[in-house]
Amino acid sequence: MIDHPNTRTRSSAGCFQPTGTPESSLSVEERFWPKVNKNGPTIREELGQCWVWTARMHPSGYGSFKFDKKRMNAHRVSWSLTFSHPKDLDVLHRCDNRACVRPEHLFLGTQQDNVADMMAKGRHRKPAPGRHRYVTHLGKEHGMAKLEDNDVREIRLTASVGATNRGQARLYGVSGRTIKRIVQLENWKHIT
Ligand SMILES: [Zn+2]
Repeated sequence: MIDHPNTRTRSSAGCFQPTGTPESSLSVEERFWPKVNKNGPTIREELGQCWVWTARMHPSGYGSFKFDKKRMNAHRVSWSLTFSHPKDLDVLHRCDNRACVRPEHLFLGTQQDNVADMMAKGRHRKPAPGRHRYVTHLGKEHGMAKLEDNDVREIRLTASVGATNRGQARLYGVSGRTIKRIVQLENWKHIT
């Protein structure tokens, strides 16, 4: 696969910089987003439509995007372009749709979280009342009003890209008012 063979510029190998040196005359964003179909399926109502990767796919089902001569998972690139480099964390899907690259359908976790998350999703598709089915970054489930610092950061991030308070409330198993107060910086002010 040769995308742009002639105009490649040198950049630090193996280090993905979302706003760094482009590998062609097009920016990473200009190459990435046209490959995304924002009219994807709605897998969970509260999340809205998935944004589906339309270019090359890994056999694993994840989208594949070439950057700096390396193939990267498209959903990780989406996270990098929207927020920041996930570093050694995994970028996981809320929507369980591996081809999806919609930033607010993604969240950060460890490989351990990834396994725990898949297992939890396999056991029960819907969260039990008062609990949500995601596993925290500390590897334990949390219930009503037991948000972790990382949850608060995630809630603010996903709100900033359009997630609704109601949708997030359902995801986290807390009230819409709790989400609103977090987003408006009335609660959890110490978390930045
Ligand atoms: Zn999705």
